[in-house]
Amino acid sequence: MVLQVYPVLCRAGYMDNYSYILTESKSNLTAVLDPSETEPIVAALQHLKVTPTYIFNTHHHFDHTDSNRDLKKLYGAKVVANKNDSPRIPGFDIGVEPGKTFDFGQTKAHIIDVSAHTQGHILWYFPQDKIVFTGDTLFNLCIGGLFEGTTTEMFAALQKIRQLPEDVLFYPGHEYTLPSANFALNNASDSKEVMAYIQRAKERLQQHLPVAPIALGIEKKCNPYLRADTLENFTKLFR
Ligand code: FE
Ligand code: ZN
Repeated sequence: MVLQVYPVLCRAGYMDNYSYILTESKSNLTAVLDPSETEPIVAALQHLKVTPTYIFNTHHHFDHTDSNRDLKKLYGAKVVANKNDSPRIPGFDIGVEPGKTFDFGQTKAHIIDVSAHTQGHILWYFPQDKIVFTGDTLFNLCIGGLFEGTTTEMFAALQKIRQLPEDVLFYPGHEYTLPSANFALNNASDSKEVMAYIQRAKERLQQHLPVAPIALGIEKKCNPYLRADTLENFTKLFR
């Protein structure tokens, strides 16, 4: 385990994005994943006394890439994103490819294509550290909207997440837990488990802490979209 993750709430109160500062302790490298808003990220970097070498993006949407250029200018950081989506990534520098890996110091990110929310959306999965960044594909108790994909594509994307080990912790692109709570409860197989999830989420948010990270094993039980094991069951959730 060489990766530390520091969530930074951005666009607080209206979009509630999470950007993440990743530090790799062995090589002393820092990256910012999905930089949404410059001010809070710069403040967090200063607080941690680190400067980013890389900017990682999950997808091109502005609320995940808006500070790419600012962080490049301030720190000379390089933007690393899906090479198949390079024209839509502001300040694009280094391409990564689904199915391949990216070396972040002593650890490795596995790049997984989850095209559905957008075409070219990727997961940043760090198997050694048991961490995955899910962007706008998987949120706590819900999933991202289908802007550029079909339910079939989203189902396929979620199957890739379901196949990851249960003890992998996931970090989503937004804080959407409480707005999704009723839907999750209404579609629960075990409402006790979902109620415990929501209770914990409320306690965390009251302390101004993110609900993330949650282990995929727990999310699989509580998130109706991730629990759906057939395309038919998944599609029913959209009716
Ligand atoms: Fe998005
Ligand atoms: Zn977003």
